Amino acid sequence: MRVARLVWSPDLLEYDFGPGHPMAPARLALTMRLVADLGLLAQPTLEVTDVAPASDAVVQTVHDPDYVAAVRRAGTALEADEARGLGTEDNPLFHGMHEAAARQVAGSVELAQAVWDGEVLHGLNIAGGMHHAQRGAASGFCVYNDAAAGIQRLLDLGAERVAYVDLDAHHGDGVEAFFWDDPRVLTVSVHEEGRTLFPGTGNPADTGGTGAASGTAVNVALPARTDGPGWLRAVDAVVPPVVRAFDPQVIVSQHGCDAHGLDPLSHLEVPVDAQRTAAEWVHALAHERADGRWVALGGGGYAVVDVVPLVWAALVAEAAHAPVDRGAPLPESWRQAALGMSGIEPARALGSGPVEFRSWRSGYDPADPLDRAVAATRREVFPLLGLDPHHD
Ligand SMILES: [Zn+2]
Ligand SMILES: [Zn+2]
Repeated sequence: MRVARLVWSPDLLEYDFGPGHPMAPARLALTMRLVADLGLLAQPTLEVTDVAPASDAVVQTVHDPDYVAAVRRAGTALEADEARGLGTEDNPLFHGMHEAAARQVAGSVELAQAVWDGEVLHGLNIAGGMHHAQRGAASGFCVYNDAAAGIQRLLDLGAERVAYVDLDAHHGDGVEAFFWDDPRVLTVSVHEEGRTLFPGTGNPADTGGTGAASGTAVNVALPARTDGPGWLRAVDAVVPPVVRAFDPQVIVSQHGCDAHGLDPLSHLEVPVDAQRTAAEWVHALAHERADGRWVALGGGGYAVVDVVPLVWAALVAEAAHAPVDRGAPLPESWRQAALGMSGIEPARALGSGPVEFRSWRSGYDPADPLDRAVAATRREVFPLLGLDPHHD
């Protein structure tokens, strides 16, 4: 058995809101070019499979039929539907919108199926992770919610406990909303707080629906300018304990890399190496708690040369059990391609080395805004999951 399956088709580049929009397809093209130039496609542990747009029946496992029809009109007649978030500044119209977004959905759904069936241990859809999309509306550059569709497929196959871990700088509001009342899905989002960043939600006190769903939403709302050591401290203090307490059968994770200091949209300052470390932790949790069943998705990330390809190529390598050395030089072939595509002089190395951080066990400073944010999450949700907010 191959360890990891990466879904990829050049047609995924057709998810394109046009010139000047932050979500430029170059982010995916440069990632795939780096995956190739690092030799990862030759790894016997990694397979790459093509992906076609999902059928309406699959898309409608998580979206209203009326909304799917509106997305089709948006992508054919270029007919705006601002009440459904289509044709807005964030989500401009483009030809083939339905097909492009439905292809992202198919990627995540087919990987969920393959991982659940034991065809592969790990699935990768770097074009996925469209975590803001809602049942009946586009939001925040996200038309269809492939992450929710992948999770829904797992539930439809009989999964009783799915953990969703969202590392994007923005709150994973869409996925959280889909499964708010469902005790079978734990959603964990680590993000910049809503006072300073879209979509404005994701407070520590938001802990899921009532009854058995209480405690199945976990929100870490970080202050602006949180750096690598702070971000890892927060992720470490919350994500492993809540995932272990929930005891998932499968982990779906979203690896939006817009928490980086060079990202134009967020106000966090989390370097590539820290984002790699968090991905390693999610991977380790999948092996520790879920027999390795792990579906990893892309997400946000708008520093298309210096951040996105580095974080996601490293993610592919990690999932393929062929990790790239920290600080490894970036292939000259890739640097030239990136320079040609963007006009930006790319980085020379894939990070610089592990980011040191202080673990929560070493103590907590109530005067520190980061520590207050982490403590708030632990206080609100840990007791609901049978955990002690004060001690690990
Ligand atoms: Zn984001
Ligand atoms: Zn593994």
